[in-house]
Amino acid sequence: MTSCNGNKDQLTGIIWKSGFDFGFNPAACKTCGGRCCRGESGRVWVDAAEIREIARFLGTNTVDLMQSHLQRIDNRLSIREQWDGEGFRCVFLECGAEVRCAIYPVRPRQCRQYPFWSRCRPPAEECPGIVSRTPEVPGGRDVAGG
Ligand code: SF4
Ligand code: SF4
Repeated sequence: MTSCNGNKDQLTGIIWKSGFDFGFNPAACKTCGGRCCRGESGRVWVDAAEIREIARFLGTNTVDLMQSHLQRIDNRLSIREQWDGEGFRCVFLECGAEVRCAIYPVRPRQCRQYPFWSRCRPPAEECPGIVSRTPEVPGGRDVAGG
């Protein structure tokens, strides 16, 4: 679903990023059902540039997008979520035959960076793609950049 930017190990496919004590295996996204986009209530912050990009992608304007898909919280804008009977999920998460983000090419920075968030490490039970940095994990080494 979200898939982050980073440095992919060509042998294992695992992404490692400097400053983080874990890696991320994007292959897990194929079968996890978008756990990072649903569950407990949360915030997905968007800035003005991201709002314009999402509106352009959806073929609408920013005013309509804000009214239909965003909510104002503490003077910031976050993507709305909806209750699906079991938990909350982002309004852009499509749960048909395939679980996918409807705005994946223009998803917000917060989604692109997941699970490599600087303020907190997502719990492993939320993201099955998280890989601990251990000697047993092939490719578990630092790579430049990040
Ligand atoms: S929770 Fe992790 S594995 Fe699942 S879709 Fe999100 S980033 Fe991918
Ligand atoms: S915008 Fe897309 S990637 Fe981000 S939380 Fe919503 S469904 Fe998930």
